[in-house]
Amino acid sequence: MNNKHIKTRLAHAGDHDLAKKIASGVSVPKVLPIYMSSVFSFDDVPSLDAVYAGEADGYVYSRMTNPGTDAAEEVLCAAEGAEGALVFSSGMAAIINAIIANVQSGDHIVSSPVLYGGVYDYFKHELPRFGVEVTFVDFEDLNAVEDAIRPNTKIVYTETISNPLMEVMDLPNVAKVAHAHGCKFIVDNTFATPAVARPLDLGADIVVYSTTKYLGGHSDLIGGAVLSNKENIAAIHRCFTLYGAIMGPFEAWLLCRSMRTLDLRMEQHSRNALKVAQFLEKHPKVERVYYPGLESSKYKPLADKLFVEGRCGGMLSADIINGEQGASTLIKECKSIKFVPSLASYSTTISYPAKTSHRAYSPEDMKAAGISMGQLRFSIGIECPEDIIAELDEALAKV
Ligand code: PLP
Repeated sequence: MNNKHIKTRLAHAGDHDLAKKIASGVSVPKVLPIYMSSVFSFDDVPSLDAVYAGEADGYVYSRMTNPGTDAAEEVLCAAEGAEGALVFSSGMAAIINAIIANVQSGDHIVSSPVLYGGVYDYFKHELPRFGVEVTFVDFEDLNAVEDAIRPNTKIVYTETISNPLMEVMDLPNVAKVAHAHGCKFIVDNTFATPAVARPLDLGADIVVYSTTKYLGGHSDLIGGAVLSNKENIAAIHRCFTLYGAIMGPFEAWLLCRSMRTLDLRMEQHSRNALKVAQFLEKHPKVERVYYPGLESSKYKPLADKLFVEGRCGGMLSADIINGEQGASTLIKECKSIKFVPSLASYSTTISYPAKTSHRAYSPEDMKAAGISMGQLRFSIGIECPEDIIAELDEALAKV
């Protein structure tokens, strides 16, 4: 024990020198540890200069990058086949940074109208404050998308599988229209995940995620991600550090852990959701089911063409009879299937878009988008599908 004061000894033991010793050892942890450090220390100024210049490996400050976020980005790139990735503190942070890195005052965006409500709100009420206008147009009409594009249009934006109507977007053909006019095509692939669709292979320039959903998959983290080529990632990286939007080290560790089972989970989510959709479709208390894997869905041929191994993911929506009353009764009567204003957990949950994710829509916009008061959105989990169906059957009997 050195003869310094206890306060001093406690301030210096067990960090810088020990960290260096561990880093130079002959063994490494099997799983990357959580680097819960806001900043990194250097032995001298040239070492810091070398890291800034990219001449030496090392980290500086965790708002810029952290070993855990590097690991999460590496795993995401491996899943998506992307050159680069950035992980964010939320899906909204990822989406907004991908947008603001590519527009400035006077620019214009063309977007599909059926979107996650937070993004719709941002497009409709926030971006105009900064002089960026957004035109919403039905992406099933490619001529309408083309007609909406102006000389100042910089971005065409959509979701692979729309929230909450489960429309499948014809990404390759939308990409052609966007690129013919020099626009970047940004796709939110949150509902699909790279285990169902890979938009970068289908013509998208930038893919965005709420990693809070399937990529996290356990309802225990809030996060987001952007994937693209090196050039686009470098441009977004500038906003990412300036706006302070990086994912925390603990969430990055959770995300890496979760990604290991993504493909297995999505396979099971997809298989279960198809069975539940087939059950609901035949049920007399259900007016309509929205799931692209159903033979009756007009999106089935496109899903077969674009999606991986016939999977359509775990999300489906259904119109319950008797409007708001029917939807509320079903929610109340489900016992282990919880009413949760989110999605993509391992267990089955129900959400009510008109009251939660799509609250920001005006009644007129909601009607135009096809979102109704009797519509529920189901996130089908990885339980035994027969048990999910039995519980829904029992609850529907009370509607
Ligand atoms: N994109 C989609 C499709 C979503 O469903 C959500 C949230 O529900 C988001 C983006 C926003 O993600 P976050 O809540 O992680 O900010």
